[in-house]
Amino acid sequence: MNDDNVTMNEEYPYCALFGFNQEAIEQRLLLTDMGDTELEYSERFLDLIIHPSLGQIVDEFYVELMRKPEFMHIIHKGRVDLAGLKKTQTEYLANLGRSFNTQAYFEARLKIGWVHFKVGVSLCLYQTAYRILQEIFLRIICSVIADDAERQVMMSYAQRISCLDMSLAITAYHDSHVSNLEDSIRNIHSDRMQLMQKANTDALTGLPNREVVKMRLQRELVDLDKHKHGIYLIMADLDFFKRVNDEYGHVTGDYMLKGVAARIRQSLRGTDMVGRYGGEEFSILLINKSRQQAEQIAERIRAHIADAPYNANGQEISITLSQGLAGATSSDTAESLFERADKALYEAKDRGRNCVVTARD
Ligand code: GH3
Ligand code: MG
Ligand code: MG
Repeated sequence: MNDDNVTMNEEYPYCALFGFNQEAIEQRLLLTDMGDTELEYSERFLDLIIHPSLGQIVDEFYVELMRKPEFMHIIHKGRVDLAGLKKTQTEYLANLGRSFNTQAYFEARLKIGWVHFKVGVSLCLYQTAYRILQEIFLRIICSVIADDAERQVMMSYAQRISCLDMSLAITAYHDSHVSNLEDSIRNIHSDRMQLMQKANTDALTGLPNREVVKMRLQRELVDLDKHKHGIYLIMADLDFFKRVNDEYGHVTGDYMLKGVAARIRQSLRGTDMVGRYGGEEFSILLINKSRQQAEQIAERIRAHIADAPYNANGQEISITLSQGLAGATSSDTAESLFERADKALYEAKDRGRNCVVTARD
């Protein structure tokens, strides 16, 4: 969770963040047995127990807390300073329980939990702190109230009010923690997606790699009879590409490969896809096409590649593409279809290159 989650234009941003509307407030009060009777005790508790001993309570509280290595660890790490903590604690205690049934009261308590989460206070330390506070309250109650019944009432109130406060701080702490975990999971998921995307993509041309095309073909073959028309695979190979590298260098060859990839992509529509099979070879998947349509697309690609020279690394270079086209039958696997398209490609090379050969079914 980051600070942006707290919308400061709300009157009670922490209540909004942790879902404390009027109904949730009432539920929490019910859960901690804080009703009208307790509301009547709240001022008396402040007058009799808290205010006369405020400085003493704060001092005792921190003496006890400083015995806990976990607390000292936070202090030593410099995440909080003791004087600041004492001041905040004094202000906190001075209003403990006052108007506890209001949104303003809940807001302040939720903020405490949120801040403690931010500075890395553990839940155990939290519980310890409230336990220490309760013990101090009980000690003072016993020493200042002589009447048994009155003492009983105050003891019960002290426990309930500290329980309410602790429950709110823990809710805020816990929800912040969960929200942080959710953020982390989202980040991991997005990193994973990016990695997968990277692993599936050919770095030079930006096209999907051979495995991606193969997996898509396997999926499409399962649904072959759902299409009105057929599925066609083209294996395409640049003609005399070695000469480009030999004559202009490998870097210029790379520019050519990028240019060719872009032109093939431009020649395709809708769900059809092109991948880099490897080297100067490409595989093209045509979905739901008649044989005539597939041949027209292959021809369009051939013409588009050969049409005009490429501006590769400052050089004007022309190139052509040979293609083998094969249509899937119901008994085909991805491998058998690749094999037939590849055979047709060899035939296209034999026939003099810069042409399309369609394999027999
Ligand atoms: P053919 O018409 O028979 O296919 O001839 P060709 O020269 O295209 O075929 P050959 O298999 O002899 O050469 C392919 C060349 O493609 C050789 C290799 O260096 C080049 N090549 C493969 N991958 C890359 C690449 O990523 N970048 C560059 N620049 N060249 C590559
Ligand atoms: Mg080749
Ligand atoms: Mg070649």
